[in-house]
Amino acid sequence: MLKTSLLNDSALIKQWLLERDPEQLKKLWDAANLVRHETMGDEVHLRGVVEISNRCVRHCLYCGINAHQLNLARYEMNRAEIIHAVEHVSRSGAQTIVLQSGENPDLDVYGIAEIILYIKANTELKVTLSLGEKSEAILALWKQAGADRYLLKFETSNQALYAHTHQGSRNAWKQRLATLTTLKRLGYQIGSGVILGLPGQTTEDLVQDLLLIKELELDMIACGPYQETHDLPFNADPASDQVSNSHLQTHICNALIRIMNPHAQIPATAALAANDGEDARWVGLNRGCNVIMPNFTPPEYRERYQIYPSQLRAVGVSGEALVSKIQEQLNQMGRPAVMNQAPPQYSDPRGQIL
Ligand code: SAH
Repeated sequence: MLKTSLLNDSALIKQWLLERDPEQLKKLWDAANLVRHETMGDEVHLRGVVEISNRCVRHCLYCGINAHQLNLARYEMNRAEIIHAVEHVSRSGAQTIVLQSGENPDLDVYGIAEIILYIKANTELKVTLSLGEKSEAILALWKQAGADRYLLKFETSNQALYAHTHQGSRNAWKQRLATLTTLKRLGYQIGSGVILGLPGQTTEDLVQDLLLIKELELDMIACGPYQETHDLPFNADPASDQVSNSHLQTHICNALIRIMNPHAQIPATAALAANDGEDARWVGLNRGCNVIMPNFTPPEYRERYQIYPSQLRAVGVSGEALVSKIQEQLNQMGRPAVMNQAPPQYSDPRGQIL
C-alpha cells in the first residue's frame, strides 16, 4: 500500500520526509527493501571510481575542489596512469568504472575517447563518465567511443538555491537540465540526483527534488548528505525549515527514491560513510540502495580530490583491498556483490595506445 500511494502525492512525500517515529520508519525501510529485492534482486553492484583530474573552472560553493581553492595543487592523470587505474578496477572484478573529474574545459577530449575505446576493447567494464557539463559534440564523441553512462547531478531543483550555491545565473540550472536531456537523446544511461541538506534547502524543495528525479526517469539516482565546507556553512536558523543532512534523513530519502523509482540503480554514497566511525552505507543497502562505489584513485592523488573535508580517505588502501573488504562485508550481509570474472594478466596494455 505504501508503494503505490506514494508515487505522486507531494503531501505524503513531505510527511514521510519529516517522519521520525521508529515504528513508522520501520514500515518505510521494509517497503523500500522489498521493492529493491523484487525489482533489482539481492546483489550489490560495485563501481570503481577514478578521479582523473581535480582541475575545475566552476565555483560550486559546496565543493572542496572548486576554482576558489587557490592553494590546492591541481593534477591531471596522464593516459598511462589512467590505464593503470583501469587495470586495477578490471582486476578487482568490479563491473563498472567511473571516470570523474572537476569541470575542465581543457580536458583532453580525444584522449578520453581513446581511453574509452581502450577500456571497451580490453576489459568487460561498463564506462560511466562524470566529467561535468560538456557540449553535445563532445558527449556524442565519447558515446561513439563506447561510453555507457553519464553521471550529472542536478544537485537541487530550487533554481535560486542552485544559482546561489553555484555562483551563477538562473540559467545555469536550466543548462544543467538541458545537458541531461542531451545525454538521454544521445543514448547514455543517465545518473543524477541531489545533495541532501544543502544550506538553504527546505523540505518543500526536497519534495520537488524527488518529483523531478522521478520525472527524469533516471537509470541511476545518487542522493548523498551535505558535508559542510568552508565556503558554504550551515544555516543555524531553526525556523528555516532547513533539511537535515543526517544519516537518518538520507536513509529516508533513499528509501522514498527506491519506492518511487523501483528499477533505478541507487548507490549508498561515500558521503554516507564520512564523518564518524559508523559506516552508514551498509544500513543504506537494507533501505533501498544496491550500489557501492569504491575509490580507485591512485593514492598520490586522492588527497587532492577532497570534495569535502571529511571525505573518507583511505589514502593508503588500494581499490582492490577496498573491494575485498566490501565483498567480505556484503557476504556477511547475505548481499553478495556481482563481479566480473578476473581477467587474464595484461602483458603491457599501456603499450597499445601510448
Ligand atoms: N564535476 C563533476 C563531478 C562532481 S563531484 C560534476 O559537476 O558533475 C560529484 C558529486 O559530489 C557532486 O555532483 C555533488 O553532488 C557531490 N558533492 C560535492 N560536494 C559535496 C559536499 N560538500 N557534500 C556532499 N556531496 C558533495
